[in-house]
Amino acid sequence: MTLRDYIRDMADTVLAGGVLEADEALKLAGVTGADRYLLFAEAARIRDHFVGTSVHLCSIINAKSGRCAENCAFCAQSAQHDTGVPVYPLVDEDEIVRSATLAGQNGAGCYGIVTSGTRINKTDELDHVCRAVGRITSEAGVSPSCSLGILDTESAVRLKNAGMDTYHHNLETARSFFPHICTTHDYEDDVETIRTAKAVGLRVCCGGIFGLGETRAQRIEMALTLRDLDVDSIPLNFLTPVAGTRLESADNLTPLECLTTIAIYRFLLPDKRISICGGREKNLRELQSWMFLAGASGMMIGNYLTTSGRSHEIDRQLLTDLELTVEACA
Ligand code: SF4
Repeated sequence: MTLRDYIRDMADTVLAGGVLEADEALKLAGVTGADRYLLFAEAARIRDHFVGTSVHLCSIINAKSGRCAENCAFCAQSAQHDTGVPVYPLVDEDEIVRSATLAGQNGAGCYGIVTSGTRINKTDELDHVCRAVGRITSEAGVSPSCSLGILDTESAVRLKNAGMDTYHHNLETARSFFPHICTTHDYEDDVETIRTAKAVGLRVCCGGIFGLGETRAQRIEMALTLRDLDVDSIPLNFLTPVAGTRLESADNLTPLECLTTIAIYRFLLPDKRISICGGREKNLRELQSWMFLAGASGMMIGNYLTTSGRSHEIDRQLLTDLELTVEACA
């Protein structure tokens, strides 16, 4: 069987309801040259079959920035990194709601309140976020989500009762590579947060970031963990190295490698929302529009946590040129 036949055969397996094993995904991830284009096309065929061709947009606010006690190697907000990132406590409710409303006007279906730190405190900070979530639900025309770090059941229930649909918490990378990236908490703490959110009936948005020095096999390892956890949507980020972080000099991704990763995630997680988020501008460069041709079904718009995104007009034009429609948050 030629490699091209193998790519088509694996896509047919997925379309028939089968699941790929790690070694099969690794063989796909190793394709080169023009075979990559076939891989992207087959990933798009899988996306069309399972989730359709409309695109989901989301947006976030960095609602509490900096001075995080964790030591994630890529993160500008770790207190162990000297990056000059802005440091501020929770922004006020009006600002969160105003920003959510604007995000909705720009096409976002989901709006995420994101805070730095291991977790937020369960008194004033959680109260504050719950009030903001309630107001977004009734005033902003977008579906609220939160990314507040490690979550316990009581906090999850309070957020859900306030109107939050989705909890976001990234695994960041594969379990086998995580000790190279973060040593201040265990991978299992993150996995447990996903389980906690799911257990109270929340949708879960959970993905990671590539370009940290992980291998292709480890990218696949994370995808299989996400498959086991049965998360609902998967944000994929590509590293933008920030001066002052441990990974300030990392620069090992190419546009085609990023697109191949997107395609492999579609093969492994065929019916999930896969959104391309931080670092798409820097890492995909002129091939940015190809993310949808490689199997993605969504993207983050606006600014990221500590780096700038591009203008809404350019992203709107991208979708118009591709004749893709924007869906509302489920
Ligand atoms: S990624 Fe999150 S937990 Fe890790 S250092 Fe940054 S803000 Fe803290």
